[in-house]
Amino acid sequence: MMFYRLLSIVGRQRASPGWQNWSSARNSTSAAEARSMALPTQAQVVICGGGITGTSVAYHLSKMGWKDIVLLEQGRLAAGSTRFCAGILSTARHLTIEQKMADYSNKLYYQLEQETGIQTGYTRTGSIFLAQTQDRLISLKRINAGLNVIGIPSEIISPKKVAELHHLLNVHDLVGAMHVPEDAVVSSADVALALASAASQNGVQIYDRTSVLHVMVKKGQVTGVETDKGQIECQYFVNCAGQWAYELGLSNEEPVSIPLHACEHFYLLTRPLETPLQSSTPTIVDADGRIYIRNWQGGILSGGFEKNPKPIFTEGKNQLEIQNLQEDWDHFEPLLSSLLRRMPELETLEIMKLVNCPETFTPDMRCIMGESPAVQGYFVLAGMNSAGLSFGGGAGKYLAEWMVHGYPSENVWELDLKRFGALQSSRTFLRHRVMEVMPLMYDLKVPRWDFQTGRQLRTSPLYDRLDAQGARWMEKHGFERPKYFVPPDKG
Ligand SMILES: Cc1cc2nc3c(=O)[nH]c(=O)nc-3n(C[C@H](O)[C@H](O)[C@H](O)COP(=O)(O)OP(=O)(O)OC[C@H]3O[C@@H](n4cnc5c(N)ncnc54)[C@H](O)[C@@H]3O)c2cc1C
Repeated sequence: MMFYRLLSIVGRQRASPGWQNWSSARNSTSAAEARSMALPTQAQVVICGGGITGTSVAYHLSKMGWKDIVLLEQGRLAAGSTRFCAGILSTARHLTIEQKMADYSNKLYYQLEQETGIQTGYTRTGSIFLAQTQDRLISLKRINAGLNVIGIPSEIISPKKVAELHHLLNVHDLVGAMHVPEDAVVSSADVALALASAASQNGVQIYDRTSVLHVMVKKGQVTGVETDKGQIECQYFVNCAGQWAYELGLSNEEPVSIPLHACEHFYLLTRPLETPLQSSTPTIVDADGRIYIRNWQGGILSGGFEKNPKPIFTEGKNQLEIQNLQEDWDHFEPLLSSLLRRMPELETLEIMKLVNCPETFTPDMRCIMGESPAVQGYFVLAGMNSAGLSFGGGAGKYLAEWMVHGYPSENVWELDLKRFGALQSSRTFLRHRVMEVMPLMYDLKVPRWDFQTGRQLRTSPLYDRLDAQGARWMEKHGFERPKYFVPPDKG
């Protein structure tokens, strides 16, 4: 393979951007102290999952005055997807609610180090989103306008300006870019530890190495959880179990459908450059090349969203703590090729590792939050579509508000778990749909676009007649609906 010759692959160090303090800090949190104590038999809230989402919900609930909260983690804190996260905190999203969640997360993580004394590696690098085509530039201009409306600084810049901001980039094929100066990078596991530490200061009891087996439900209402260390009676249960959330939801007597599915997600880490990159070097998103690139310890971290993703764990679930999955250089090659086109100087740089970690995706590429329509008191925050770090702070806040006040301070209706039915929870549907969803992360959406997978699940008795009249179809909640008609002789 051509690229093995271009870049020599050396060493297999245990290294990841999520781990800067994780190994040393994890045992110093109060989780270790709590572990030595017996589980309580009662609590108001039990949260399942010690990743970025679970710790964020715990942090916000405790800040809002709820005290009787227990957080359970089957492995060690932050040892799920959060541990392998690339650490990029990006506010540039197409949709306002996601922009707001990411903006809140950015502000929260910025002050967390000061609040908790735990170093999170927060560095304000800014991000640059490249456009290779006019269509991409138009799309960036739309995002730019949206960001500015809610007060996030960003601007459209020329290729020349891009080259000034990042000297390694080949800018010859660019037509423009968007610069978001307040975007940042962090160590995601350390952010989760800091949130857990602050929550524990506020009275949340955290138990690691404790698995939730199932949630107990009576007359459609949560009554408690069964764990491998005993039962806890509770009023509220929060499923923040990442890629395990689907299975956990189904494990109750009255199952809760949480449609998500994991795909493998890859990025490489290089050794430092001869002149190491500054820690403030901006993060690059080259969506036309399907890659992202950030500074990592003077070298490069680069991953992406390939056209042909690999779904994983369709039959059964991952182990307790996520391990780095197998390297697959053939699969990563198109992204590597794209990276070398964008940064030709990297050809001789040594790669330390290809990280491969599962991440969850949902049928519509938007995260899942809210209360189950089937079981009262059963809340969910999961399915983060590779943006769990960016959204985690804000999403945790909105979910906590929802639980405490009965509604969140922002309109998160489009993210509500209730938008899905059992139909979208079929494993086959999910497996096919996430293969379509993951590439969409960097695809340009064209007008009249709709999903291709999971179609014709529900059709009306008029379907054939309307189709014969030239109906072009859209899907809503599994139903095929005519979107517009093209007369048969013009089709
Ligand atoms: C390679 C990679 C790079 C990424 N890069 C970025 C990035 O740069 N920026 C960004 O915003 N996002 C990124 N993401 C996405 C982000 O890391 C995830 O969305 C986020 O970490 C998910 O957090 P979580 O808390 O939902 O899940 P997790 O971190 O997986 O946490 C879930 C936790 O629940 C626990 N659990 C599960 N079942 C049980 C049970 N029955 N009992 C007790 N505990 C249980 C698990 O052990 C786990 O610790 C990346 C993801 C990957 C894989």
